[in-house]
Amino acid sequence: MRKKTLRDVELDGRRLLMRVDFNVPLSKQGDITDDTRIRAALPSIDYAAEKGASIVLVSHLGRPKGQRDPELSLKVVAYHLGGLIEHPVKFADDCIGPQAEEKAASLKPGEVLLLENVRFHSEETANDPRFAAKLACFGDLYANDAFGTAHRAHASTEGVARHFEERVAGFLMERELETLESLLLEPERPFVAVMGGAKVSGKLGLIDNLLERVDRILIGGGMAYTFFKAVGLEIGGSIFDEKSITLCKELLDKAASGSEKKIFLPVDTVVAKGVDDDSGMMTVSTGDIPENLVGVDIGRKTVEMFSSELSRARTIFWNGPMGVFENPSFSEGTKQIARLIADMTRDGARTVVGGGDSVAALSMLHLKGKITHVSTGGGASLELLEGKALPGVEALSDT
Ligand code: AMP
Repeated sequence: MRKKTLRDVELDGRRLLMRVDFNVPLSKQGDITDDTRIRAALPSIDYAAEKGASIVLVSHLGRPKGQRDPELSLKVVAYHLGGLIEHPVKFADDCIGPQAEEKAASLKPGEVLLLENVRFHSEETANDPRFAAKLACFGDLYANDAFGTAHRAHASTEGVARHFEERVAGFLMERELETLESLLLEPERPFVAVMGGAKVSGKLGLIDNLLERVDRILIGGGMAYTFFKAVGLEIGGSIFDEKSITLCKELLDKAASGSEKKIFLPVDTVVAKGVDDDSGMMTVSTGDIPENLVGVDIGRKTVEMFSSELSRARTIFWNGPMGVFENPSFSEGTKQIARLIADMTRDGARTVVGGGDSVAALSMLHLKGKITHVSTGGGASLELLEGKALPGVEALSDT
């Protein structure tokens, strides 16, 4: 680990300002529907409390766009967190200002204060230096445990860190960095990446970086059709991204220049009338998609081909569903791949899943606990694996 962590600093009797990611999903009634992100921060919070720090937590929730929005208040999270740590958590109605300062000043060692949604202030995403300075008043030292926002240079992730001599990673951040960086540096081979989802443009940089490090890249989901388009195949009404065609072609050429086949594209496709209309559903070979139909899932032969590559792997990275998995009719390919990755984990392979929709697919199948590491940061994990520096990580003290 190239960054200092909570273990490397003195916490007793000190005020710790910690950025956490409490961006949890809420129901229409305002209840927390999944508290995974809150639980993920518990090891850092418990450790700092045990060591005698008073803890001020700062987080965002949703996208209030710089406006106070009662529906995106973190108050409900403060209450829930109190239940998890079995100690009441104090709450400040604003993340800066006299009330928050008073509450922070009255904290005793081991006590926790959660500040209101930091994105109620537009200065947060603008990384405003004065706003960052105000946040910095809450701590003698700073920790960042919010891996999910580490790819953003915001006031609470980057600007604030400049005000501290000691800027350390929390344990969730440490685990994410160690796991993802080890994929790039020392993967046990064969290393197979499975990529899917719809947004091809944001993932080509990642595929490019992975090409040099993995043994195979299996590409499914909506992004496969831009690759097919790039080699002149008929894709009917399937989703594709015009602007990415040239880059897809370049990546295919680059992959083909090596001694071994590296990029594997689907050999068959499930097609239907539309992504939310399963009439006319059938499986066709790649290149044979009728003009009036769209590709919605990988076909059975592709599942077999991908499974045969995956079953030899010792390291697997998966991002993005193989089809429109939200529609049960089109979820078979994604389910089969998810189950196989879980089986491979049981048999000793190291498996890492990143990206909201692949994680949602795992949750749907109750397989989240059967994967070596499920990343809490979709965008952050992709940028790290793409080889980009994450501002929230770079801002932390080196070991
Ligand atoms: P992404 O955010 O890029 O990982 O994309 C995830 C989304 O891709 C999911 O909502 C899927 O429904 C969608 N998706 C996967 N395969 C297809 C496809 N063949 N056509 C359209 N959308 C797809």
